[in-house]
Amino acid sequence: GGHRPAPIALEGVRLSFGAVRAIDGLDLTLRPGSVHGLIGPNGSGKTTTLNVISGYYRPQAGTVGLGPRPLLDAPREARAALGIARTFQTPRIVGEASVIENVMLGGGVRARATLAESLLALPRHRADERALREAARLALRAVGLDGLDDARAGRLQHSELRFLEIARALMIRPAFLLLDEPAAGLSAHEIKRLGILIRAVAGQGVGVLLVEHHADLIFDICHEVTVLNLGRVLASGTPAEIRSHKEVVSAYLGA
Ligand code: ADP
Repeated sequence: GGHRPAPIALEGVRLSFGAVRAIDGLDLTLRPGSVHGLIGPNGSGKTTTLNVISGYYRPQAGTVGLGPRPLLDAPREARAALGIARTFQTPRIVGEASVIENVMLGGGVRARATLAESLLALPRHRADERALREAARLALRAVGLDGLDDARAGRLQHSELRFLEIARALMIRPAFLLLDEPAAGLSAHEIKRLGILIRAVAGQGVGVLLVEHHADLIFDICHEVTVLNLGRVLASGTPAEIRSHKEVVSAYLGA
């Protein structure tokens, strides 16, 4: 140990779907301990960027690296093993399983294709199971869902599922956490709670990528903000810089 944790860097990343240039020469750096907001109009390439970092899409040009380590040839499971965790716009849960079982899946989900497969592969040794359960209990407490451990996940409210997804992502003890619209469908109070949670996670040294439409949350909690438009960086800087950026205000924030 002793060395500084490495950032994730994207350089010149390009990815087209047919004729659509979803991202078009993108440079982006995610720093450990920093909350990096990614905003922009619909279709500007935010989710595609998250999918490139987490290994769901492979770009046609450019590089993605974790410090000196190239990531592009690392499959999704390898990226999870390197500490890159993500959530989805639509929470992915096993509705029939309990809340805590869904979170426990995060500890074993790395190498497996689907949640259902992971469920079948839950540890067969009691000691492993106990450790995993304890870690899941702590993760649920961290996201404010304690007390719901044994509830059937399918019975949770939408907003609770969003926090459950974060608890599950925390199970790999991530170095980087990629959040795809975590505030969608949350109340103002829940968004506040989400913001506090994200800042606490970053406070532990985790680099957070926050793809989000909710401008207040972005400007409240981000250390850095990148604005995408048509797959390119329109602006990048501190929240204060972005708020006063002429093109951003006219093109996106609308003022
Ligand atoms: P955002 O997250 O900013 O709304 P996306 O990254 O989802 O934007 O999409 C960027 C562009 O790429 C859009 O034009 C979208 O229609 C297109 N796109 C994204 N994913 C796919 C896909 N799997 N197949 C075809 N086109 C896609």
